[in-house]
Amino acid sequence: MTDLTFIDSLRAIVGDRGVVTEATDLEIYNTDWRHIFHGKARCAVLPRNTQEVSAVVRLCASAGVPMVPHGGNTGLSGGATPDDSGAQVVISLARMSAIRNIDPVGETMEVEAGCILQTAQEAAAEAGLLLPISLAAEGSARIGGILGTNAGGTNVLRYGMARTRVLGLEVVTANGEIVSGLRRLRKDNAGYDWKQWFIGTEGTLGIITAAVLQLAPMSRNTVTVLLAVPSPEAALKVMRAARQGIGETLNAFELMSGTALELVERHQGLKVPLAPSEWYVLLEASSSLPSLREAVENLLGEVLEREDATDGVIAESERQESELWALRESITEAESREGRSVKHDVSVPIPAIPAFLREAGAAVAGAFPQARINAFGHAGDGNIHYNLVVSSSTDGSALNALVHDIVVAHGGSISAEHGIGQYRVKELERCRSLPELELARCVKHALDPSGLMNPGKILASLHAEK
Ligand SMILES: Cc1cc2nc3c(=O)[nH]c(=O)nc-3n(C[C@H](O)[C@H](O)[C@H](O)COP(=O)(O)OP(=O)(O)OC[C@H]3O[C@@H](n4cnc5c(N)ncnc54)[C@H](O)[C@@H]3O)c2cc1C
Repeated sequence: MTDLTFIDSLRAIVGDRGVVTEATDLEIYNTDWRHIFHGKARCAVLPRNTQEVSAVVRLCASAGVPMVPHGGNTGLSGGATPDDSGAQVVISLARMSAIRNIDPVGETMEVEAGCILQTAQEAAAEAGLLLPISLAAEGSARIGGILGTNAGGTNVLRYGMARTRVLGLEVVTANGEIVSGLRRLRKDNAGYDWKQWFIGTEGTLGIITAAVLQLAPMSRNTVTVLLAVPSPEAALKVMRAARQGIGETLNAFELMSGTALELVERHQGLKVPLAPSEWYVLLEASSSLPSLREAVENLLGEVLEREDATDGVIAESERQESELWALRESITEAESREGRSVKHDVSVPIPAIPAFLREAGAAVAGAFPQARINAFGHAGDGNIHYNLVVSSSTDGSALNALVHDIVVAHGGSISAEHGIGQYRVKELERCRSLPELELARCVKHALDPSGLMNPGKILASLHAEK
């Protein structure tokens, strides 16, 4: 099929406005959020409904054209960026953004994949419910990308990763088949839970077109606390006390190094309302019961008395809550203003966090004495963003290997929440066991035998070996 015939056939499916071919218009599809990866799409296609997604995929599959699913383009692993061959078609779900229904009794929402996360959150809130997936990119990230990456964020401690919110899924497979399982069931053990094959696999097995999400009751009271703690060990003691004292109300437990908040003060003009400390904890709890604040105050008194925390402040208003959260959410931006950084999105078992930080700190200081460590993250989930501010000549791959080897030695993961994309393909091959990789290769081969669905992501070279 000539290029002209192919593009005309796409236009016949999605309409003239649904196919983007001009180089300047394609720029937004050709690079990622951080502008680290740069590709060259043959074109971008924006279907309006699931049938059109199916027809586009059938056309691409029959013409042997590789496809790259595209959401809000906030991914941090280059998963939505095409390669530079000029052969790949980007399929954007941006025109499929409807909220199909909200069930206030069953507490569910059926939503199309192109819906922006924040729009879905707001619709849930209007119905008096909570869509408890929350991350700093929620104003741009779309449901398809959120599920395609199995996003984490700040509420995982209480509500789990994005995967745990999915009751039903509708997908278009690599050969263009529509598979609909938009059931609203909390319990469904009828055979394989096939929706899991498409969640967190970064568009390499098919395209998510809609989902039924489990919502949660909206809590009436929220309490946010910033604590200064002397060490990561002390932070874990505070976490243990919080789990015992206010247990199920704990939404978030974030650990931030003094360095991280120094960067925020320097570059973002924000002020930490506590004395300087080596480490800080940001803790958020919510409940509809009126006694929450008193319970948090008791917790604060307890950890200060035991000197697991040296200072602390409880937000007195919604504004103060936002100010405390701004400290945490500005770290990435502040880091980017400081200079080049090599990032690691790792997780280790929670009790291993202090040892990981100690060992990684010693290894980095030995091998890369100029590197400055900026560690922070969702400690309540064992997830540390272990970033290193480095000079332009630093060998990022060697630094990755050094940190990841320590992560693996602790039984951890080289990607806690950002995925593999094209950023960590080699590290995944190095760090995962052969039987695990072989299992993944089997699934890829079974669901995408021609290797046309987001090639070059997660398992690129493994598929090429087939
Ligand atoms: C400031 C900032 C903060 C962030 N914080 C967090 C955080 O706390 N936790 C976290 O987990 N992530 C975080 N991220 C990363 C990012 O927001 C998430 O990975 C998000 O889930 C990506 O959604 P998206 O719609 O932008 O997807 P995209 O970037 O467009 O795509 C991401 C991947 O999903 C695939 N994909 C997209 N749509 C579909 C679909 N319909 N079907 C199948 N596959 C699809 C793409 O091919 C790609 O591989 C952050 C990013 C930024 C910029």
